[in-house]
Amino acid sequence: MRILVVEDDVDLNRQLVTALTDAGYVADKAFDGEEGHFLGDTEPYDAIVLDIGLPVMDGVSVLEKWRRSGKKTPVLILTARDRWSDKVAGFDAGADDYVTKPFHMEEVLARVRALLRRSAGHATSELTCGPVALDTANAKVTVNGNAIKLTSLEFRLLSYLMHHNGKVVSRTELVEHLYDQDFDRDSNTVEVFVGRLRKKLGVDVLQTIRGMGYCMSEQGNAG
Ligand code: CA
Repeated sequence: MRILVVEDDVDLNRQLVTALTDAGYVADKAFDGEEGHFLGDTEPYDAIVLDIGLPVMDGVSVLEKWRRSGKKTPVLILTARDRWSDKVAGFDAGADDYVTKPFHMEEVLARVRALLRRSAGHATSELTCGPVALDTANAKVTVNGNAIKLTSLEFRLLSYLMHHNGKVVSRTELVEHLYDQDFDRDSNTVEVFVGRLRKKLGVDVLQTIRGMGYCMSEQGNAG
């Protein structure tokens, strides 16, 4: 899953990006409203963390612009402690949730997890597909109850597919959601990672749909 962080405080931006990366996401960053708006408008993020007090274009205007152009990406806004009106303006502009500064990073991560799973239609933090279970709360993966170790890229791949359980995900879509903006993306490498992931899972849940992409499905007969 790929997240955009729009925050002009350089330290806070870095802390957010680091925490999100450590939690198994890939994160892009922007430091003003214009840059943030552009990235959110042109790149397919799974969720966006958006500060309200931003230079060049404020967060509420950024959000309004995204929503007016039809962007449905879940957005978590960061508001200043004594600015309750920012929350109201933020929600009215199309925010999905908020965190008040100063915050505990764990709370931001929990709210991002909730936004991601809700927007993918999941009510609980554990995603399952047959014998495979992914606990989004602690980024642990088990097969038939046994923990398996994945690299960060394999985890991102599995997490994206499990959030979109039962749907066919194209290679291009995977590339767009597994790598950050600076990465030299090559959709051929996705196939290699899918092969490795399949081997590690050791169960028949990750199907290749010829000419279309990949699909997590319990029945090992989809392709
Ligand atoms: Ca700010």
